[in-house]
Parts: sequence; structure tokens; C-alpha cells
Amino acid sequence: MKRFILSVLLLSLLLSACNKAAEPTAGVATETLPTETTPPSPTPTDTPEPTPAAEAFTQYQFEMTLDYSRHSAEVIQIIDYVNKSDFNLASLLLVVPPRAFPNAYQQSELSGEAVASFIEDGIRTTIQLSQPLQPGQRATLRLAYKLVFPQRESTFGWTQRQLNLHNWYPFFPPLSGENTWISHDPLFDPAINDFVGEYITNEIADFQLTLRLVENIPGLLVASGANADPIADGVLYTLNKARSLAFSISGQFYREQIDHNGLLIQAYVFEYQKEKAVAMLQIASQAMDLFGEIFGPYHQNQISLVSADFLHNMEMDGMVMLSSKVLDFYNNTPENNLTILVPHELAHQWFYSQVGNDQAMEPWLDEALATYAEYLFYEHYHPELTVWWWDNRVHAHPHAGAVNNSIYDAGNYAEYRSSVYLHGAIFVHDLNVSMGDQLFLPALKSYVAQNYLKIATKADFMAALQAASPDVDIQAIFGRYFSD
Ligand SMILES: [Zn+2]
Repeated sequence: MKRFILSVLLLSLLLSACNKAAEPTAGVATETLPTETTPPSPTPTDTPEPTPAAEAFTQYQFEMTLDYSRHSAEVIQIIDYVNKSDFNLASLLLVVPPRAFPNAYQQSELSGEAVASFIEDGIRTTIQLSQPLQPGQRATLRLAYKLVFPQRESTFGWTQRQLNLHNWYPFFPPLSGENTWISHDPLFDPAINDFVGEYITNEIADFQLTLRLVENIPGLLVASGANADPIADGVLYTLNKARSLAFSISGQFYREQIDHNGLLIQAYVFEYQKEKAVAMLQIASQAMDLFGEIFGPYHQNQISLVSADFLHNMEMDGMVMLSSKVLDFYNNTPENNLTILVPHELAHQWFYSQVGNDQAMEPWLDEALATYAEYLFYEHYHPELTVWWWDNRVHAHPHAGAVNNSIYDAGNYAEYRSSVYLHGAIFVHDLNVSMGDQLFLPALKSYVAQNYLKIATKADFMAALQAASPDVDIQAIFGRYFSD
């Protein structure tokens, strides 16, 4: 019995969409279904910076020396922060996600000419500035720390066959229009032994990381969403206009890649999964084609898909991770979780990466849309399977509750999936049917274009729909699925 329960738990965890999503399908056996110094601040008399506003992103630069075998890294990080708000900032909030894990983050330096003092509290460090940072001004921060990765099957931690680095470095969150930092607490769900959904909201930034290894490990491969350029003693990773910089590293990866109309698509699977890489790349190229058509162009020149040594799936920027179990159960038919979940995670390159949102408070803005993108994928490539998709993906599971639940409203993963993902997909389908494809799909594309590289809200989404469809009562449709 215990074994059965474990099997059910395993299945229910691995069939998930992005975070702790799971598509537990009824049949366990059947696999049916079932990613210093402060530069001189411009004084009020300085002329405006020549840099175009569109280029004024915060810059993150890292020097990382990784000890893969001992699961640790020494990091020097320099953040050139730009105040993109309309407010004078007397202090800055730095979020340090690895401090959610005991002893994982050991800081030896936090300095900068603009820093007067700082206070650490949980995952947050509040930095008092020596003088307020005005809109458009920059402040440079230098950090030195050691990461001691926790042993856990998740997006931050190591297992016997993989090291995952997601949300691994200190960052400055976005400021809301009300001049408050968008920073929330993680919510742990013991049922999945992980956090519920995501609690981090990232501003668009530019990233550069130099990776060096303390020892040469033959066969070690590094997957990331960044462009990799070999340098004398390591590799330089560059990723611009991105929400985050993540890595997945393994000595057991097999890599296969294609150049798909100028887009580099890379699959990193475990060696025993070699024969699954082609299917992964093929589904990915179909999804990138369709979403580029429907949502607008993909803005990076590469995407990596990575087999994960954990039981859920996760989007990063320029990279997605799919549970290795999803690959294991791939059966060369589209009636399969790989065909469902690759499009889901790739849709997040639009709904998370290109258009950001507060993933803790308004998770439906990326998750309901990414789940519905699965349907759009089936409708386009496998129209005979749309009923199957609804039955297996949505109706076979609880699919109720307020679509606009925050992760805290949901309270646990099961409720989160039911309301935000699955009821969320039904909600988006209702919008589509009410407006019709000819209005709905262009509205989605407008939403992406209007909110490109921003943090969108419900109001932005509604505005795009209403503008495209003045004769449909969009508010009334929202009213059927949202709580106030
Ligand atoms: Zn997702």
C-alpha cells in the first residue's frame, strides 16, 4: 500500500506544469498522461546620460568558482542598479533567495560607495543609502559570498546526478507604482516538500557570468539560458534583457541541438534518455514556431530544454526544466505529458520572461496562459486530441476555485493547481470562445507587445482584451472566475 501511495505521489508530482504542477493521471501504470565603486552619480547639473532609456537595465556581473564535487561555489557579484522608478530611493531592498536554506549563503562582503549601512532579515537585506538615489541614477553594489548548495531535488540544490542553480543570487526586485518593493515570502507545502508556485518577481536585467571550475571534470556539461563563450580559464555566459540567470549542471548529460530557422534549440537529457532528445527538440521547435506566430517574436537567440532530477517542471529565462520522469514516460505519441509540458514551459518565455508578472500575487497571469497555450498547441498540431487534452489535463482533476488566487490564497499546491492552472485554462478558453479566435488571438499578441519587458497586471490584460473586443463584456467574464 505504501508503495502504491508513493507511486501515486510520484506520478502526481511529475506530471506537473512548471512549478509543482502535476498531472496525476488516474492510471499509475499507464503513463497515459499522463528555467567598486559607485560610478559617479550624475549630479543635477549633469546632462542626461546618452544611453537610450531602453538600454537602462540593471546589470548583474558574476565571477563564479564552482566546486562541483563538493557542491559549493565562491562568488563575486557586482550589481550596477538603475533606479527605473519615479521615486527618490533612500534605501534599496536586496532579496537573497538562497537564505531560505540554512547555511546555503555565506556572505563575506557587501559594499559600495552609496551604502551607508544594511540590515539583514530572512531573505531580505535592506540597504540604507548615503544619499537618495534619484530616478535614472545608478548605484553599484559589490558582494562576495560562498554558496553551499543544499542536497535536494529541486531548482536550487544538488543530487547525485545534477546541480541546479535557480534563484541562487541576491537581486533587486521591481518597485510597484506605489513605491513598494515587490517581494514576498516563500510558502512551503509539506505535501510536495517544496514551495508552492513561485514567490519571486524579477525586473528585466542584463547578466554576465564568468564560470571557472576548481577541478576539471570530464563530461561535465552546463545548461543555461545564456550564450556561452569559452575564455582562457573558463566560460563567459551572457544573457541580456532577461528576468534571471539559471544553470543546470551534470556529469551525466547528453546534449543534442538544432538550428531552427536561426534559433538554437538545445536539449540536455540524461545519457540513458538519449533517444528522447529528438522528440523533445521536435516538440520544442513546433511550439516556438506557433507561439512566435500567436504571441509575437521570441526575443532571444537560443532556448535550452533540460531533463530535471526532480519531480516537477520549471521555467527559467532562456531555459526550461522538465522532470526526467516526463521524458522517461514519453511513448512516441502526442498523448503524452512531454507533448503537453514542453509547450507549457516554453509559453513562459512569453508569459514570465517577455511579459513579467507578480508570480506570488497574480500567478494566473503566467500560469493560466501557459496552461492554455498547451491547448492552443494541440488545437494547431493535434486537433483530434483537444478533447483528450481537456479530459486528461483539466477535467480529470479538481478544476475550481478563484482563478486570481495568490499562492497564499491557495495555501497549498493542490488548490493552487486547481484554481490557477486548471480553472484558469477554462477561464481563458471562455475568453477565447466569447471573443472568437479572430479577436482573441490578436488581443493576446497586443498584450505581449504592450507589456514587453514590463511587469503586467490584471488591468493590463483586461485592457488589451477590451480594446480588441469592445462589444464583449470582458468584465462579466472575469466576474465568473475571479474573487474580488
Ligand atoms: Zn507554468
